[in-house]
Amino acid sequence: MLQSIKLLPTFLVLVGLCLFSSFILPQDDRSAPPRQPFKLVVLDPGHGGRDAGAVGRKANEKDIALAVALKLGKKIEDEMPGVKVIYTRKTDVFIPLYERPALANKHNADLFISIHCNAAATRRSPARGTETLVCGYNRLGQQDAAIRENASILLEDNYEENYGGFDPKDPSSMIVFQLMKNQHRRESIKLASLMQDKFTTSGRPDRGVKEQSLAVLATAGMPAVLTELGFMSSSIEEDYMLSTAGQKEMVQNLFDAIKTYKTSVER
Ligand SMILES: [Zn+2]
Repeated sequence: MLQSIKLLPTFLVLVGLCLFSSFILPQDDRSAPPRQPFKLVVLDPGHGGRDAGAVGRKANEKDIALAVALKLGKKIEDEMPGVKVIYTRKTDVFIPLYERPALANKHNADLFISIHCNAAATRRSPARGTETLVCGYNRLGQQDAAIRENASILLEDNYEENYGGFDPKDPSSMIVFQLMKNQHRRESIKLASLMQDKFTTSGRPDRGVKEQSLAVLATAGMPAVLTELGFMSSSIEEDYMLSTAGQKEMVQNLFDAIKTYKTSVER
């Protein structure tokens, strides 16, 4: 008897988990309800103010990142109906790293995209191309609090009827957050891969999707990527990233990736 009473919370958690995981895991069932619409993107132009980022011959990383983020945001708001954009900065100001994902968490964003430029140790390096980073496993523990905070907001609408009183704040529901974290990781990798694919269609060298231990991604409670547009240490790439045509092309690549991603998660 004592045993079954002890097992009751575990049983309830498992029931909750089944209900919950059927909501958050990929659905093959065509009759499954569509996911919540994709409504808000946070764009995070890297560096700013006293932090120039990588310094090129003609420009600083912070300025290219800002220009591309503003153009991308405008394109999203103009051409993706129903999707809003929030920027971590819209001017040349310094923003502490932790405030960037915190803004996305506060607004319960669907996506966090940090925009940067790469640099090799020396200008003689032949390194070129784009790469997109997702948070490495060793940092994933830091997402727990953010996901937990967001989960209660996410579930607010039809919470009672959907989950039969399952409490996301209960410590025993950590396993649910583990599932959510894995879901965010899968979606981050999906978006990062799409971004790399789109850059490749414009002939950019593809350095792939990489996992890194990045503070700026570690506490985002939603799918989050950091894209490196190209190398400031390469004069060819610096010129490309600084040019109007180059920025237009990179913005189009990123926009196409986000659009495809949006369709895939809303399916
Ligand atoms: Zn950077």
